[in-house]
Amino acid sequence: MTGLAAGWASGLPVFEAESAPGGICSSYYIRPGDSARLSRTPRDEEAYRFEIGGGHWIFGGDPAVLRLIRRLAPAKEYERRSSVYFPGQNLYVPYPLQNHLRCFDRELRSKALVEILTAPKPRFKTMAEWLKQSFGPTLTGAFFGPFHELYTAGLWKTIAPQDPYKSPIDAGLVIRGASDSTPAIGYNTTFLYPRAGLNALAQGLAHGCDIHYGKRVTRINTTKKTVQFEDGTSVIYQSLISTLPLNRMLEMTRLQLDEPPDPFTSVLVLNVGGVRGERCPPDHWLYMPASRAGFHRVGFYSNVDASFLPRSARTRRNRVSIYVERAYPGGQRPSPEGIQDYSDATVCELQDWGFLKDVEALDPTWIDVAYTWSWPGSKWRAAALKALEKHDIQMVGRYARWTFQGIADSIRDGLYVGSASRVNA
Ligand SMILES: Cc1cc2nc3c(=O)[nH]c(=O)nc-3n(C[C@H](O)[C@H](O)[C@H](O)COP(=O)(O)OP(=O)(O)OC[C@H]3O[C@@H](n4cnc5c(N)ncnc54)[C@H](O)[C@@H]3O)c2cc1C
Repeated sequence: MTGLAAGWASGLPVFEAESAPGGICSSYYIRPGDSARLSRTPRDEEAYRFEIGGGHWIFGGDPAVLRLIRRLAPAKEYERRSSVYFPGQNLYVPYPLQNHLRCFDRELRSKALVEILTAPKPRFKTMAEWLKQSFGPTLTGAFFGPFHELYTAGLWKTIAPQDPYKSPIDAGLVIRGASDSTPAIGYNTTFLYPRAGLNALAQGLAHGCDIHYGKRVTRINTTKKTVQFEDGTSVIYQSLISTLPLNRMLEMTRLQLDEPPDPFTSVLVLNVGGVRGERCPPDHWLYMPASRAGFHRVGFYSNVDASFLPRSARTRRNRVSIYVERAYPGGQRPSPEGIQDYSDATVCELQDWGFLKDVEALDPTWIDVAYTWSWPGSKWRAAALKALEKHDIQMVGRYARWTFQGIADSIRDGLYVGSASRVNA
């Protein structure tokens, strides 16, 4: 999305490795009982719609960017329904759980409340220290600890805290939520999704771009200023805008830094379509502190919109389409057999929980650089960006700048850098 926005605003050529636009923000379709991925919905619309990177909901965003998104791909607005799920107790606590302590038993509720409200001003280096000091040992033990162990693939005890706004603490709301309901808060209380699927947005942007598909970059020579592609061709550049992950750009340019690289995690997204289980919740997504198979988030595409289901199931809603996310240490992709075992275990668990009955479509996708982290006090990111800028390479987007960012902000940054680089400027 970032590269498309930059290409759209600048008129510069865009080189994309795949044969379609959108990166991990793109939809595809699978017919029940089949395994072939279709790039568009079949004529009879009897197919599940999935996404490469799991459910991608457009939250936040500058009003001007949201207007552009709606113009390119008319979208509907949704109000977030999200919870933390404790499978052992079959307990659902609305997100963010610190504002809904009334859902816990009296003992846990009182302990957690006292710990949060009497917490001294936190002094921390790592994510684990920040969580323990902010939420106290009781809630950290019940949820924040085991969830972050899964979500960061074990890194949470050594990496710096990240994005505290995702786990906000407002003493007033914590107290109120111990006995009463509280309003939805956070960065994604409402979100947009294109009526015709996420592809419509990527295609809308790509339409205004000079885009070259099937152009996988393998090497960038910063002395000769050339970009080499896997197909043996190359181009010369004066300056380059790159949306590739920062670590991969350093590998491709072979620029050496003194700083040790910051870590990242990969994510396996398992897309599942099938008969809806009787205990399938109405949430859009759930965070879980534990699962036998090792996943940490389960999302329900079809709870957001019935258009994710095959046409014949949309009114009765007797089917469900689900995405399940599991994190791995950066780049440690399991073998095909490992993925098969994990998929089987996940389906079994979703069936045990009553979310799903018979499976009609099952498809794993791999996101190599999915979440980017930093070591406490790390200077690697700043040094890497500077080294690339020195060679006229401007990094833009979530992975390129090693930051947390959604689609809307990625598009904003692409438009901004693209406008400043317009070919006729
Ligand atoms: C699990 C997960 C869930 C998410 N959920 C949401 C959400 O609900 N809402 C939201 O707003 N955001 C979400 N995001 C974030 C969102 O995915 C990013 O903000 C967005 O993908 C950033 O877009 P990008 O264009 O910068 O990067 P990418 O989407 O990674 O695009 C990079 C592009 O470069 C191409 N490419 C890669 N290597 C090469 C190469 N060697 N040569 C040429 N081309 C190459 C890729 O094919 C791709 O098209 C989520 C991210 C993850 C990991």
